[in-house]
Amino acid sequence: MLKSLRQSKSYKPDPNLLANRTILVTGAGDGIGRVAAIAYAKHGANLILLGRTRQKLDSVHDEIAEHTGQASLIIPIDLTHFDATSAIELKHGLEGEYSRLDGILHNASILGPKTLIEGYPYDKWIQVFQVNLHSAYLITQAALPLLRKAPDASIVFTSSGVGRRGRAYWGAYSLSKFATEGLTQVLADELSEDSNIRVNSLNPGATRTSMRAQAFPSEDPDTLPTAEEHMPLYLYLMGPDSSKCTGMSLSSNNWSY
Ligand code: NDP
Repeated sequence: MLKSLRQSKSYKPDPNLLANRTILVTGAGDGIGRVAAIAYAKHGANLILLGRTRQKLDSVHDEIAEHTGQASLIIPIDLTHFDATSAIELKHGLEGEYSRLDGILHNASILGPKTLIEGYPYDKWIQVFQVNLHSAYLITQAALPLLRKAPDASIVFTSSGVGRRGRAYWGAYSLSKFATEGLTQVLADELSEDSNIRVNSLNPGATRTSMRAQAFPSEDPDTLPTAEEHMPLYLYLMGPDSSKCTGMSLSSNNWSY
């Protein structure tokens, strides 16, 4: 375990790892998505910031502009209501703005209730799947024509430990992450046939964010890794160093490259 941790932390991305690349991050306004968007921008990427709360996206935009002088594109969308029509609008919007897309980090998710399946409310079940899975499938579909135009595009889906091993009370969140792993594998296999697009899933592990605090309210956040500590893997998967890696399920606390 310690050996793997050292291996992941030893990855030193080139400062220009993502130069001239355009990357879309969902849930970019807060938590891990915010930190990843800023890390990508600091490594040269042009960012598309998609998320629910305009004010939070503006703040990420400003922080990126302060560090890089670059303006990011802001797409304020509540993924609860994202449907096939929204996907077509997104597709046309992106194609009007960019000639290619080099990567997507599917990061936006909600936890939903932590309760037994026996009493899990159906409306919450649908909502969790909508935000965590269905919207990611629709966004990917909308973006694929532009991703195909990049020399080596990367799609990263965010998973979870409970998306690889089921655990009581994690309900629809756990199931939506299992499905995310499946989507990663099916899409990776399909795209390996006729494209240079790689598709992988990433489990950040316990991280000091508001979602983690919601899941474990009595936990001391200071005992948890910060999102910044996971950035080596987020950068590795988005940049060309991972160009041969597809269909993989990686975890921030035990990967090597
Ligand atoms: P946060 O709750 O801190 O951030 C989630 C982000 O997703 C926020 O920017 C939020 O926007 C956005 N979002 C939520 N719902 C919607 C929606 N309906 N439409 C658009 N955007 C939405 O979560 P984390 O940063 O902790 O989690 C990031 C990813 O990592 C998730 O996929 C999570 O499942 C995964 N993960 C996290 C772990 C952890 O310990 N934190 C462990 C394992 C996996 P807003 O702020 O505006 O609400």
